[in-house]
Amino acid sequence: MHTTRNRRIVLAARPKGEPADEDFRLEETDIPSSAGGQVLLRTLYLSLDPYMRGRMNAGPSYAPPVEIGQVMQGATVGEVVESKAAGLQPGDIVLAYSGWQDYGVADARSVRKLDPQLAPVTTALGVLGMPGMTGYTGLVNIGQPKPGETVVVSSAAGAVGSVVGQIAKIRGCRAVGIAGSKEKCGFVTEELGFDACVNYRDDGFEQALAAAAPNGIDIYFENVGGRVFQAVLPLMNLFGRVPVCGLVAHYNLTMPSRGVDRVPMLMTAILTRRLTFRGFIVGDFAAQRDEFMRDMAPWLRDGKIKYREDVVDGLEQAVSAFKRLFRGQNFGKLLVRVAQKRDPKPGA
Ligand code: NDP
Repeated sequence: MHTTRNRRIVLAARPKGEPADEDFRLEETDIPSSAGGQVLLRTLYLSLDPYMRGRMNAGPSYAPPVEIGQVMQGATVGEVVESKAAGLQPGDIVLAYSGWQDYGVADARSVRKLDPQLAPVTTALGVLGMPGMTGYTGLVNIGQPKPGETVVVSSAAGAVGSVVGQIAKIRGCRAVGIAGSKEKCGFVTEELGFDACVNYRDDGFEQALAAAAPNGIDIYFENVGGRVFQAVLPLMNLFGRVPVCGLVAHYNLTMPSRGVDRVPMLMTAILTRRLTFRGFIVGDFAAQRDEFMRDMAPWLRDGKIKYREDVVDGLEQAVSAFKRLFRGQNFGKLLVRVAQKRDPKPGA
């Protein structure tokens, strides 16, 4: 049966710490209608990403917050069900930003038509999309890997981290992953081809990391922060580079943690070992999208880059799935399958 209603998940309250079910509300509305130059999209896949936690907070960040009562934002792969724009037809599959809902309206210029023959359309949300480009641009521009160097990446089994280590290998580096389970570490070394992977939840993690990087660390691609970072810092080599991509271990913190003041140790390490830290947002490198696709699409086709997806069924599962990102319970790029591709017209 075809639905004639739009289900959407709105932000009901600003989470304190880890998001709770009560912070969200599933609503039903009419399916929106498109105007000239627009398309009506039926969401097939919704991407769930750690950055969304930041959008739930009030206050300035690199992007405006989602307001209370607003639909949660997010990238989607959708099917065109109605088009009032040249160049797009019902049945076309596009990358869009429809958010956590069944249907969205978008300006045709803001969506990108996908070629399902090129690669599975879900890759536009992962390895060939924003997370893949984050790993690629952060490593290449800030990490500047050279053959023989040691690259360490945290959250190595995840959407971004898995790309970073594999590109490090392509660039002739030693790739060391850090991940939160034995199973993930097995995937990182056996499937993705990293040289080593260390489980940060194990006793003796610090010693295991030092053993996995016997020549020290030249590039640390930072995805998590917290105690993982503390273990990495003493191992950084002279003139090491640290692309600061994400700090997922901190996103649910409600107040700065008290305890030992580590600023002197950090600043001394930066100074004496001449380290370069640079934070970045993938959009900083938007101009490199063609270059990214030129490299990444053949790597993917030739099996030089592998990827893993963690697909959850049903929009109503989005909140519980989202929470898994902060517990290490996702294994690969986290996606919600909202609907299957079908006839172009809703209710037809
Ligand atoms: P992942 O697929 O890596 O999923 C998140 C993973 O983070 C979890 O599976 C878990 O892996 C790890 N994690 C969660 N909590 C902790 C913790 N307390 N300590 C250590 N690890 C933890 O997500 P993405 O690949 O999409 O994102 C990775 C990072 O990149 C995030 O920090 C994200 O915000 C950032 N990012 C930044 C962008 C930018 O433009 N700067 C763009 C896209 C992403 P495990 O089981 O190994 O602990």
